[in-house]
Amino acid sequence: MRASRRVVVPGEELGVIEEYVPLSNTYVEDGVIRAKVVGELRADALRHEVEVLEARRASLPREGETVYAVVTGMRDVIGYLDIFYNEDTGLEYVPPYRGVIHISEISSSRVRSVSEIFGYGDVVRARVISSKPPFLLSTKGFEYGIVFARCPRCTTPLRKRGLWLYCYACKKVYRRRKVSRLYLVR
Ligand SMILES: [Zn+2]
Repeated sequence: MRASRRVVVPGEELGVIEEYVPLSNTYVEDGVIRAKVVGELRADALRHEVEVLEARRASLPREGETVYAVVTGMRDVIGYLDIFYNEDTGLEYVPPYRGVIHISEISSSRVRSVSEIFGYGDVVRARVISSKPPFLLSTKGFEYGIVFARCPRCTTPLRKRGLWLYCYACKKVYRRRKVSRLYLVR
């Protein structure tokens, strides 16, 4: 069996009724089967069936998957992030999904506030620990945590130096951050 994985948009031609039986999220116009929603095309050539899986439903982050998210808010022990990429599925989320992280899931070391660990706009590699929105995230483990950050003073990308992040423009060290082993700027 050959199943295609292609994203289609509303109105896009999926086939003809002589060829396929139109199933969910499709409509027929003059014998042509078209997509009703944005989503992933499922065309089964053996069964002669065609349908569209709605994008959001098909692409929700799932428990255990690794995602990339931007820190957008911090309130005491809670961090808010926008999940924009799923490493496991290769899918980008436009618009992003809201993710939430509790301080106990950021690091094993003792910290009192999320703002001691993350900065606004930091890109974080995280694991999804709940499959329903808002998605709960965790950055425990060496390969999780900040993978990209800019200097809050001058916006130069920070470089990893030892355990900390460093701005070569301001000559300033940023400590107490949960930096991933996979930090992107060396
Ligand atoms: Zn700087």
